[in-house]
Amino acid sequence: MYRNKSVPLLGAILFYATLISSTGAAQPDWKKVQPEAVALLQELIRTDTQNPPGNELAACRVLEDYFRREGIPVQTYRVDSSRGNLIARLKGTGASKPILLVAHTDVVPFDSASWSHPPLGAQIEDGYVWGRGAIDNKGMLAAEAVALALLKRSGVHLRRDIVLVATAAEESGGGPGIGWLLENQREQLDAVFALNEGGRIVTQNGKPLWVGIETEEKAAYNIKLIARGNSGHASVPREDNPIYALARALARLEEYSSRQVLDPVTRAFFQGIAKVDPSVQWLDGQVKTDDRSYLAILSNTISPTLLEAGYKTNVIPPSATVNLNCRLLPEQDADAFVDSLTTWVGEGPYEFNYTARSAPPPSSQDGAGYVLIEQVCRKMFPGAAILPYLSPGMSDAARLRRAGIPTYGLLPFPLMENDISRMHGKDERISIEGFMTGVKLIYRLAELGGK
Ligand SMILES: [Zn+2]
Repeated sequence: MYRNKSVPLLGAILFYATLISSTGAAQPDWKKVQPEAVALLQELIRTDTQNPPGNELAACRVLEDYFRREGIPVQTYRVDSSRGNLIARLKGTGASKPILLVAHTDVVPFDSASWSHPPLGAQIEDGYVWGRGAIDNKGMLAAEAVALALLKRSGVHLRRDIVLVATAAEESGGGPGIGWLLENQREQLDAVFALNEGGRIVTQNGKPLWVGIETEEKAAYNIKLIARGNSGHASVPREDNPIYALARALARLEEYSSRQVLDPVTRAFFQGIAKVDPSVQWLDGQVKTDDRSYLAILSNTISPTLLEAGYKTNVIPPSATVNLNCRLLPEQDADAFVDSLTTWVGEGPYEFNYTARSAPPPSSQDGAGYVLIEQVCRKMFPGAAILPYLSPGMSDAARLRRAGIPTYGLLPFPLMENDISRMHGKDERISIEGFMTGVKLIYRLAELGGK
């Protein structure tokens, strides 16, 4: 019933035509919008939704109040006593399929001691709003909410519903969030496309250098490597101590590098990036770069993240385990990847535990969503390279794409590398100027796309 890739080409062309011919209605007074938008962002940051445990219903309440004041129909769907998802719907005539604006309400935990500003304080300093979630993903959530309210106030005639979807639990795989919504409220998510986090607008010297519109993501796998031995008294060392065996395997894995593989998306991306970013060279169909964030999307990667072994200081344990957080390229078969790891690690008492699953289909660059985002960005960021993007991370987009909803990722704020790297780290912050650019971008996208 739902198309996997995109609207038919004719649909995309018509959609494209409406963009070009659209005449600008009265634009919001952005100076007046700024304090309101920043206040909503601050309120969302101050609402503690660290996951675990999430408590996302608290953020739903903030958004519910906001949309009620604007007269926009809104509903919170409770999953349990503290978690839930929210949908706000600005109605169009229904002549065309809706557009979804997706953002997640939960944030990753933080260690306050290492921050220069309180992570839940949402303080304003040096032109920035500081706090956990400023970039990931409360900034986008606030920008989407404000754009929806502005659209309602403008009285613009919409042919499509514009639907804000605020999801829980994105930072832990999306089960009670987008997963729950797809299972229980699937018809509410029917859409021509969804806009979600994922892609990025990277600035250099204060100017957007490139815009990456995410059309596909790497697949995240937690693969457990278990070394087995025999337990015994630590006073009589054993040659089959599994901790030594695991250490040998890890040393081998540090040397593992899977070869560079380009698919149509990364090929187009790197060819374009090589023209604007001197840290990347395109030579004989291969990418040359030392930049870690580029390297991450050129091959399958492995990061050991958790170690587990032993239960008493004087007992040799029967097993030792490491969690390998692996990010596979979209085309990579998980079984074949683990086979290659098994060969690489070599002989030993090893076992790999994982569950393979099918990869979601990429979202087409011919789709209405891509065309629209590209069009809006071209106008807002003249001179920037606008390219399809493979995201190294995984988000709600994976489940949306698997459910047949074309999904495009774009974190709508121009960010410099120094700010992007604070995501999930300390001192996360967003410049007010960048944030407001994001509000405008989403407003234009919804206004043009909704007509
Ligand atoms: Zn996120």
